[in-house]
Parts: sequence; C-alpha cells; structure tokens
Amino acid sequence: MADFSGQKAVVTGATRGIGRAIALALLKHGATVIGLYGSDTKGAEQFQEACREDADRLRLYQCDVSDYQAVEEVFGRIEQEFDTIDILVNNAGIRRDSMLAMMSEADWRRVIDVNLTGGFNTSRFGVLLMLKQRYGRIIFITSPMAHMGFAGQANYAASKAGQIGMMKSLSKESAKRNITVNCVSPGFIDTELLSDLPEELVKAYKKMVPARRFGTPEEVAEAVLFLAGRKASYVNGSVLDVTGGI
Ligand code: NAP
Repeated sequence: MADFSGQKAVVTGATRGIGRAIALALLKHGATVIGLYGSDTKGAEQFQEACREDADRLRLYQCDVSDYQAVEEVFGRIEQEFDTIDILVNNAGIRRDSMLAMMSEADWRRVIDVNLTGGFNTSRFGVLLMLKQRYGRIIFITSPMAHMGFAGQANYAASKAGQIGMMKSLSKESAKRNITVNCVSPGFIDTELLSDLPEELVKAYKKMVPARRFGTPEEVAEAVLFLAGRKASYVNGSVLDVTGGI
C-alpha cells in the first residue's frame, strides 16, 4: 500500500467531487493535505468536519486559482508553514458549455482562466517549492475531450488540451530535479460537474462507455495515488486514461 507519511500535498478543488476523493485518499495514506477551494465555503466547512480525525494533517484555503496574485499569496503561506511540498494536484476545473458560434467571450475566458491559467498559476509556484528539495510530483486532471473534442465544449476541450501541452513542457523542464509531471484523464465521472445533464443524455453517454457506466471519483483518485507515489519515478510526461475504455 502506498505510504505518503511525511509528504505534503496541495490539491486544488479539494472539497468536492474528484478533488475531494483525491484529498481523502492522500490523507488516508498519511499525507498532509493542503486543499484549495474556490467559493463554496460551506462545502469546505463540511469537508473539514468530515476529516476531523485527520485535522492535524489538513489545511484548507480559499483561493481562486485563476487569480495569479491570490495563488502567489497562498503559496507564500504554504511555504511559511511547510517550507516545501511534495505533490501538487491541479484538479480545480469548470464547464461553461455552448456551441462555439453562440459562446460568449466571458464563458470562453472563464473556462480558460480557471482550467488552464489556474494550472499555470499553481504549477508556477508549486514547482518552485519542489525545486528547493529536488523532488516532486505534479498531476493535472485533464479530460479525453482534449483530443476527442465534444460539441458544445470548445472552451473546455481547448483548456484541457492546453493542460496536456503545459504538462509535457514542464515535465521536460523539471525531470533532472526528480520532479515528474503527468496527467490523469478521467472519462465521465459521477460528480456535480455533470449534474446538469438531462437523464436522456446521461443514458446516451453511458452507452458510449465500453464499461457502460460512469466512473467514481475514488477510481480517479487511485490513478492519482499511483502517479503521486515515489515508485512512479520513471513515469513522466504521460497521460493516464481512467475512462472505462472510451
Ligand atoms: P466539481 O465536482 O464541479 O468540482 C470542481 C472543483 O473545482 C470544486 O472543488 C471547486 O471549488 C473547484 N473550483 C472551481 N473553480 C475554481 C476556482 N476558480 N478556483 C479554485 N477552485 C475552483 O468537478 P469534478 O467533476 O470533481 O472535476 C474535477 C476536475 O476533473 C476538473 O478539472 C474537471 O474538468 C475534471 N474532469 C471531470 C470529469 C467528470 O466527468 N466529472 C471528467 C474529466 C475531467 P468550490 O467547491 O469552492 O466551487
């Protein structure tokens, strides 16, 4: 079983959905988790309460990952308290779907700002803390839409494809310092992100999946644990699909 005792992990979007499952898995395996959340303060309080047994190994900070200065500030606090970090999971993400011809500039920008620029902001400051100790694991949560595309998701697909390009570039920059950078690419996963889909669409999407079901956040967390582990030391610049076979 993976042991993350003594390791410090930053997880963005840590209090809901996939990020929550990742944070819980890292906590369960001994890591100290520094979770960032966007705006759902109530959800963050509930998460803190659910983790009260591990309260000494959990910090939660509100931080809009798209805000460069806010990210710089929060990583400054993390450095003051923890000095370095071992793991960064760039999980925070949003959808604002519509056909490209109808897409507002605001929806285009917001998705790129959160999903892509957010990953840049946290990696920018996260990798500096890892360079100090010459060790680290950075994992982006991308999507198969990055290479498949999907009607109504030009902004989302572009942001996720951009994450893969950023991940591959950073993986080449930091490999010499024992810092690996990879992506996990989940297929349809049962979270609030998909809660607006009509029942008929859910049925149709499940038919598209060879496994004939949506995945769970915990199944994604398992893949993240693998890439975050010390033993995944020669896995760098890769995309690990967790899609039920899409
Ligand atoms: P979710 O349940 O909607 O959770 C999204 C998380 O991102 C929340 O914790 C939210 O924080 C956080 N967040 C949103 N905007 C933020 C911001 N500006 N700054 C900081 N945090 C922000 O979504 P999910 O399904 O768990 O998705 C997690 C990641 O997996 C996303 O990157 C998504 O694109 C990716 N993914 C999901 C699926 C899927 O089918 N669910 C498939 C492939 C990839 P608050 O709680 O504070 O709002």
